[in-house]
Amino acid sequence: MTAHAPQSVFQALDKTGTGVVPVQDIVGRLNLAGFKSDDPRLAGTLDQLYGLGDLVNPDEFENLTYPGHSLIERIVKEELVIPQFGEFTERFQEIYDVTAANKGGRVASYIPQLARVDPDQFGVAVCTIDGQRAVIGDTDIPFTFQSSSKPFLYSAALENLGEERVHRHVGREPSGQTFNELTLNKIGLPHNPMINAGAIMSASLILPNLPMAERFEAFTKLLTRISGGRRPGFNNAIYHSERETADRNFALAHYMREVGAFPEETDIFKTLDFYFAVCSIETTARDMATAAATFANGGVVPQTGTRVFRNDTVKNCLSMMYSCGMYDYSGEFAFRVGIPAKSSVSGVIMAVIPNVMGMAIWSPRIDETGNSVRAVEFLERVVATFNFHNYDSLVETRKIDPRRRRQTTDLNATFSAIHAASTGDIDSLQRLVAYGHSLDCEDYDGRTPLHLAAAEGHANVVKYLCSQGVAYKPEDRWGNTPLDDAVRHEHASVIELLSGGEGCSDLCCQAAE
Ligand code: GLN
Repeated sequence: MTAHAPQSVFQALDKTGTGVVPVQDIVGRLNLAGFKSDDPRLAGTLDQLYGLGDLVNPDEFENLTYPGHSLIERIVKEELVIPQFGEFTERFQEIYDVTAANKGGRVASYIPQLARVDPDQFGVAVCTIDGQRAVIGDTDIPFTFQSSSKPFLYSAALENLGEERVHRHVGREPSGQTFNELTLNKIGLPHNPMINAGAIMSASLILPNLPMAERFEAFTKLLTRISGGRRPGFNNAIYHSERETADRNFALAHYMREVGAFPEETDIFKTLDFYFAVCSIETTARDMATAAATFANGGVVPQTGTRVFRNDTVKNCLSMMYSCGMYDYSGEFAFRVGIPAKSSVSGVIMAVIPNVMGMAIWSPRIDETGNSVRAVEFLERVVATFNFHNYDSLVETRKIDPRRRRQTTDLNATFSAIHAASTGDIDSLQRLVAYGHSLDCEDYDGRTPLHLAAAEGHANVVKYLCSQGVAYKPEDRWGNTPLDDAVRHEHASVIELLSGGEGCSDLCCQAAE
C-alpha cells in the first residue's frame, strides 16, 4: 500500500517559506536521521526524489508515494526513537575515539585463523528500532559468529519447539564457569543456552530430522532475514579448524549423551557438525547491529517490518543474554552495564537496548573471560553517557514524595529525566518528550531536570529544557533555583543563559516565567 505525504510535513520542511524545498535538503534530513540509501523503505522514495530534479513543490511532494513515507514525517515531527540522531552519533564517535586507545587483551589463539586476525580492528554499529543506523570504524569487515550465534540458536530452537520443550533439555541459570567448562547442572542439563553445552543442545533441537544441508540452509536464511536481507558469509578454514580442535565440545556432547540430556535419537556428531558450521558463519558489525535491533524491536526487523521471532522468544532470549551472555563476567556486566548482551571469542559483543536499539561492537582483543576488551569498555562508557542501564530509571526512587510531584505521573520518566539532565544526555530527554513525558517534573527535594543540568553546567540541556517550556525558576526544598546552582558551581555559560544576559537565547527568554 502506498500513501501520500501530508502538506503539513512539506510546510515544516519549507523553512524559508519559498514554496519549494531542495531535494538535497530532504535527502540530507534522511541521512542525518540515520536512514541510509540502502534502506529498503527508501529505495523507491529516493528514486522519485532524484527524478524530480533540484526542487520539490508541495504538489510533487504530496504525490510522492512511497512505503517509507512516514519516515520523513516522523523526522519532521521528532517522533523517532532517537530524534537528534546526528548528535547521538557524535557522542558515539567520541566514545569510540577514547576507547580505541585501549590495547588490552589478546586475540583468541585456540585456532590459527583467529590468531592471525589484525588485533587493532575496531567497529561499532548501531541500529535503532526505527532502522536509524550509524557505523563507525571497521563495520564491514567479516568476522565469524562463534559464541554470538548462541542467542540465534536458542531463539531458533524456541521457535521450533516452544519454551517448555526446549527447557526440558537446557537450564536457565548462569554457570559461574567458563564457556566450555565440562560441567552440567544438578539435573544433568547444560546450565543455560549461552554457554557451549547449552548451544550444542540448542543445535540438536533445530530441525533434527532434516539433512544437514537443509538445517544449515534454514539457519542461514534466518540470519539473512534478521540482518535485513543481507546474506551472511561462511569461513571454511575456520570451520575445519573448529572441527579439528574440538575435543572439549566433543567431550561435552558425549557427557550430555551419557546422562541422557539430549532428546532421544539425537545424533551428536551431526549436532556438533551443525554447531561448528554455525560458529563459522561470517557476519559484520553492520549486519549484527540490525539483528540486535530486531531483538530490541520484539522480533520484527526494523527496515523490512518482517517478524522473525515471536515476542515471547525474544523475551526469553534477552533474559538469558542478560543473566548469562557474557560468560563468567555476566553478573559483573549486568551490574555495571545492565543490558542484555552476548559476546564471542571473535571479539564481538552484540548488545540490545530493548525498545530503543541494537549495537554490535567488534574488536578482536579479548580478556581472560573471552570478552572483547574494547567492546566492554565501550559499553561501560555508553551507559555512563546515556540512560541505558536497565535500572537507570530507578535512580533516586527512594526520594519520591508523590505529594510534591509537579506534573508527570510517570515516576520512571521523572527520574530518567533528572538523571539524563545531570549527565548531559539530551537524546534521552528528547526521547522522553517524544514519548509524551513532561520534563517539568521534580523529585522529593524539589530538584528538577533544569536544576541538575544547571548544576552540572550542561548549557545545551538548559537551552533544550527551556525550549520545552519547563518552569524557569523552580525552587527546590532549600529555596534554590537552577540559576543559584549554576552560580554556586560557577558555570558561566549557564549563568548567562538563565540570567537573561548577553547570551540568553530567545528560547530561554520565551520560557521565562
Ligand atoms: N567455536 C567456539 C567454541 O565452541 C565458540 C566459543 C566462543 O565464542 N566462546 O569453542
